[in-house]
Amino acid sequence: MLRITVPPDVRKRLESALAKAGPLECGGVLLGEHVGVNHFVVRRLTIHGTGAIASFVRNLTGVVAAVKDFCMAHGGRFEKFNYLGEWHSHPLFSLQPSGRDHDTMRSIVMDKSVGANFAVLLIFRLDGQELRGSAHTYLPDGAVHPSELELEPAR
Ligand SMILES: [Zn+2]
Repeated sequence: MLRITVPPDVRKRLESALAKAGPLECGGVLLGEHVGVNHFVVRRLTIHGTGAIASFVRNLTGVVAAVKDFCMAHGGRFEKFNYLGEWHSHPLFSLQPSGRDHDTMRSIVMDKSVGANFAVLLIFRLDGQELRGSAHTYLPDGAVHPSELELEPAR
């Protein structure tokens, strides 16, 4: 099982993006650092503007550019810093991935231009002030596995 850690600075960015979006979905791309066996830390995330409810649309071109920038900023150490996956909010419903979420993630992890061995989907929601989330990992063979999401306390 993969373990995904969200450190305090990233958590703060997420919480303010979710608060700003209110009832609208928002989301973006996760860039991660491989810190241990099956353990990744989210080091950066992009935040895309809000769209209509439940109609978050990702932009693959933007993703590839963000990944390149991120890797270049870390000396091209692709094996350590890389595309980790996607995140978006479910402000009004369950933290479980929808059927469409499954389809989207499978198309990403099977996309050769992304070239991922796996892709993580994090879904977040603000419950009052409390950040809640879920993590799932998608593999190129179509499998999806629940993963462990560790939200470090924001200070
Ligand atoms: Zn969703």
